[in-house]
Amino acid sequence: MSHHRSPGGHERSAALEEAVDRANTRTVSSHRLPPPPSALRGRIVVAAVAVGAFAAAGAGQIGQAAADDSKDVQLANHADGAATFDGMGGDTASAPQILAVSKTTSEGSAEAAKLLRSQQLTTEREVAEAEKKRPKFFRPAAGEFTSGYGGRWGTMHLGIDIAGPIGTPIVSAADGVIIEAGPASGFGLWVRVQHADGTITVYGHMDTIGVREGQQVKAGQQIARMGNRGFSTGPHLHFEVWNPDGQKINPLTWLNARGVTV
Ligand SMILES: [Zn+2]
Repeated sequence: MSHHRSPGGHERSAALEEAVDRANTRTVSSHRLPPPPSALRGRIVVAAVAVGAFAAAGAGQIGQAAADDSKDVQLANHADGAATFDGMGGDTASAPQILAVSKTTSEGSAEAAKLLRSQQLTTEREVAEAEKKRPKFFRPAAGEFTSGYGGRWGTMHLGIDIAGPIGTPIVSAADGVIIEAGPASGFGLWVRVQHADGTITVYGHMDTIGVREGQQVKAGQQIARMGNRGFSTGPHLHFEVWNPDGQKINPLTWLNARGVTV
């Protein structure tokens, strides 16, 4: 906040008008403003307040000032320190200044709070938009689709196989929670992820596992690396989908219905 003073006591009207404007909009926080010309004395009370008196008077006048809703501008002239009180007791001259400062502070705080809230809303909106745009389903691994769901060699193959080099990242096909992560007969290692609707996706033969039971995962989040463990004739991912009733359904159909091609 800049303070305006006219050293010579002349050409004050511009600074004064600005002071009046600022006072009328209740944003005056200046302690020192130039004295007004006589034409404005009706509205503006000029009081000279010694610095010591200012502090002493202010302490006792806060309550009164808070109740005072006057729009009158009360200006303290420190130029000479002389007691040229004009129509108003010197002790009250400081009160509106305290009031003004107090209002300015609370208005400033309100503005800051409003700005902060606005920024929070923007951040929340951006997070919500990013969440909306985020893909909710993923192909569980890159690689070659080598075997589909169904009859194979006289047995049922209840998943799909995607082959690739050992170490190829394997990701969760959807948001969910890890309900199992470790050794499993035939799978070598497996990970089972339960999703919000009760569907469970199963990932087998991995070389390494990067998640723990109970962990929340996002769609596309890496959970393991492709391997050749268990009943496997080459590095690949065996991927199953169990519907909420526990039936092992065709993963390709399930993925395709969710916009994912394999
Ligand atoms: Zn398989």
